[in-house]
Amino acid sequence: MSSYHRDTAAARGLASCHGCSKVQPLEQGQCARCGATLHLRKPHSVQRAFALTVAAAILYIPANVYPVMRSERLGGTESNTILSGVALFWEHHDYPIAIIIFVASVLIPLLKLLAIGVLCVAARRCRHPHAMTRVYRITELVGRWSMVDVFVVAILVAVVQLGSLASIVPGPAAVAFTGVVIMTMLAAMAFDPRLLWEAADRDSAKPS
Ligand SMILES: [Zn+2]
Repeated sequence: MSSYHRDTAAARGLASCHGCSKVQPLEQGQCARCGATLHLRKPHSVQRAFALTVAAAILYIPANVYPVMRSERLGGTESNTILSGVALFWEHHDYPIAIIIFVASVLIPLLKLLAIGVLCVAARRCRHPHAMTRVYRITELVGRWSMVDVFVVAILVAVVQLGSLASIVPGPAAVAFTGVVIMTMLAAMAFDPRLLWEAADRDSAKPS
């Protein structure tokens, strides 16, 4: 089994500034260039990422249970959750829209929650740092498109409003859903991927 032991900057007491990325001795305390406090790793990275993921997972429930939008027509009021909205578009043979909403609003947030959860565990014990780093990169890549979910809802509202003489009001799930998006973005930002390699280092150093 290969070892991940390296002559690292951390081993030499050097830290990269979180504000401007300048590498300098940790003992300085503050960045010589931008004045930010120096940390070897993002402080409490796993705890913060995990707490934000749990918060996002809790918000994921009301985001799917409560109506995401209410449409008021002459005939009365109609409420739709994300999933019943997907089903509605599917029934109307609007397959691309149904698939886009399902992927952007149900599948991707769920996968992101799982991925960050797995990374938090891997930061403690890591046997496959290459695979875990790939998971982190995908999470980061997907995170950049998180706002698409919100845009999809906004575009949908516009489409529905143009399609019929109805007024559309966002339901309570829209707030919860925005919370899920923000929490998962913050969780991915809080996670320090270097912890994966340190965990792998520790694991490979242990006698098996
Ligand atoms: Zn700096």
